[in-house]
Amino acid sequence: MKYHEMTSARLSSVDRDQTVVVVPIAAVEQHGPNMPTGTDTIICTAVAEALEKRLADQVLLTPTVWLGASAHHLRFGATLNSDLETYIATLCDIATSLLDDNFRRILFVNGHGGNVDPLRVALREIQPVYPDALLVGGSYWSVADDLIQETLEGDHKFVGHACEFETSLVLHLRPELVDQENLTDAGNLVTDQINGLFVSRDMFQRTNEGFTGRPDLASAEKGKKLFDGIVDRLSSTVQTLLNEPLGTENQEFNS
Ligand SMILES: [Zn+2]
Repeated sequence: MKYHEMTSARLSSVDRDQTVVVVPIAAVEQHGPNMPTGTDTIICTAVAEALEKRLADQVLLTPTVWLGASAHHLRFGATLNSDLETYIATLCDIATSLLDDNFRRILFVNGHGGNVDPLRVALREIQPVYPDALLVGGSYWSVADDLIQETLEGDHKFVGHACEFETSLVLHLRPELVDQENLTDAGNLVTDQINGLFVSRDMFQRTNEGFTGRPDLASAEKGKKLFDGIVDRLSSTVQTLLNEPLGTENQEFNS
């Protein structure tokens, strides 16, 4: 089911208890010299649409929130940014609209690293107001750590930025948008961790040209394998969310 393609009459007849509302959230920001600025929106939307196609009776898909929290990319230009306060408020507004319309199982599927922290803050803000709801959010790649590690060949066996992972996915989904002749090794990536503590540095401080890892090792074949695996795992996540009891207190889990 696609929220924005349905009439209000059809939406009102959707079974609230047996539906997971999927809200894809992404970004439009610089992805180095060779990848499209819409990389996160393209991948995240494709993942969410495939999930809806797979589970059309249980998933209610909203349009992708394409504007993300991307201040850490602004110094490279080619970036559209929502400041953190506005972004948190936007996510809360979307969730509240759905919750006040009696939807109770909401899954934010994120496609942009900068959205992770504000997404968690938004869910923390809403939860005490709607303790009977199931409020879930995370990045689409989080469900596939092992698959990512076994598929990527470069040293960076994690999701970076315009990296081997993201480039492979766009080569699978929209190859014509990638400047394939000029994909190169990103070189050194400055850490954002010191002794397990987070160091806040923007992409201008961390990278040479705004991207990370080994996009020169990317391929459409890897992209397809990663994409299909991620959709598989998110499909079982949706089933888990449908089976999760709502409004439960600690004692009920222990009984
Ligand atoms: Zn991004």
